[in-house]
Amino acid sequence: MAPTYDVIVLGLGGMGSAAAHHLAARGARVLGLEKFGPVHHRGSSHGGSRITRQSYFEDPAYVPLLLRSYELYEKLERDTGREIATLCGGVMLGRPDSRTVRGSLESARQWDLPHEMLEPEEIRRRFPTLTPAADEVALYEARAGLVRPEHTVAAHLQLAGQDGAELHFEEPVTRWEELPGGAGVRVHTPENTYTAGQLVICPGAWAPQLLTDLGVPFTIERQVMYWFAPDGGTAPFVPDRHPIYIWEDDRGVQIYGFPSIDGPDGGAKVAFFRKGTVCTPETIERTVHDHEVRAMADQLAPRIPALPGRFLKAATCMYSNTPDEHFVITRHPAHPETVTVACGFSGHGFKFVPVVGEIVADLALTGATAHPIELFDPRRPAAAAA
Ligand SMILES: Cc1cc2nc3c(=O)[nH]c(=O)nc-3n(C[C@H](O)[C@H](O)[C@H](O)COP(=O)(O)OP(=O)(O)OC[C@H]3O[C@@H](n4cnc5c(N)ncnc54)[C@H](O)[C@@H]3O)c2cc1C
Repeated sequence: MAPTYDVIVLGLGGMGSAAAHHLAARGARVLGLEKFGPVHHRGSSHGGSRITRQSYFEDPAYVPLLLRSYELYEKLERDTGREIATLCGGVMLGRPDSRTVRGSLESARQWDLPHEMLEPEEIRRRFPTLTPAADEVALYEARAGLVRPEHTVAAHLQLAGQDGAELHFEEPVTRWEELPGGAGVRVHTPENTYTAGQLVICPGAWAPQLLTDLGVPFTIERQVMYWFAPDGGTAPFVPDRHPIYIWEDDRGVQIYGFPSIDGPDGGAKVAFFRKGTVCTPETIERTVHDHEVRAMADQLAPRIPALPGRFLKAATCMYSNTPDEHFVITRHPAHPETVTVACGFSGHGFKFVPVVGEIVADLALTGATAHPIELFDPRRPAAAAA
């Protein structure tokens, strides 16, 4: 018997919702299966804001994907009428030889991206909330800004549904197997068993449990987001006046933060980039402790003196790290005819969500993609290094 669906998408978080949209838009019969409800807060795609930028210090190889992602984010806003991206500009701050500054400049130069290098006096003049040290500089990118994760996921689910995708929530996949003769997959949930020609796995922090045969030692990391009400009010922090920032200190510790986007009482969000504690989705400590808030306030005080004014709230989230912090996007090496995988986004995946949806749809429906994804092969040596 022919499989019921063309594609089953496991996980409807950031990546899975985008995959479901792109697959359904191309006419595929799609079933999406999600463990929790729509747009939930128990994975990696919540917290109101995510940084987006193009001068990518992680590796210039990401830049073409970012350019496409910007186009797709614009289209997503047009197609749904939702407010998703706010391109308020961004500064990558630190010493000239820091990874944040040096790497961003390398990407900007290699891809000829519009950018400016700012000396400390100029940073203070343009952005009076920021007080860089005498030896710190910034790469300014006017097209950097933020995207809203919950609006993004909701928009992709909406479009997928409009194009006929069946989306089942509170229905976890318990196991799956290939059909005989490579005819597709059979996928089991507590309620039902489904068949499809293709399976797309976008498991977020559940990758270590669901993708044991991929050969990549994922580390799930607990991360905390903090909201502070600045001294003197949020007026200097609104997106018209305030950029997103990534700020690396002389020990290599990075913080990043956002303008104030939740109204005068919402404060502004800031977080450490990396340096979280290892966890699992079952064991993650959801309570944020006073000493953690103090550590954040201490890191902020010399750099953005008004910001640690009054602590408002905190929330936790998970990174799914690969050893080299590059993504995994591939046909599954052990099931190359039927299974596509997108995971290991290592704390920097959200800005790529729409283009990952497009790539996954390419891989699931045609077996290949024109996008450059060599860096994301799980068989690269650096992905296996424990
Ligand atoms: C605090 C924090 C800050 C971040 N900041 C940025 C940033 O500024 N810029 C940026 O680009 N990126 C950022 N990221 C990273 C980005 O948010 C993630 O890379 C991205 O959200 C990952 O999406 P995902 O689809 O892989 O995971 P998720 O959105 O978590 O989706 C995975 C889904 O799979 C479901 N699932 C798992 N197992 C099953 C199963 N058995 N059956 C059915 N469903 C299942 C889960 O319930 C979940 O909904 C940040 C992440 C965090 C945590």
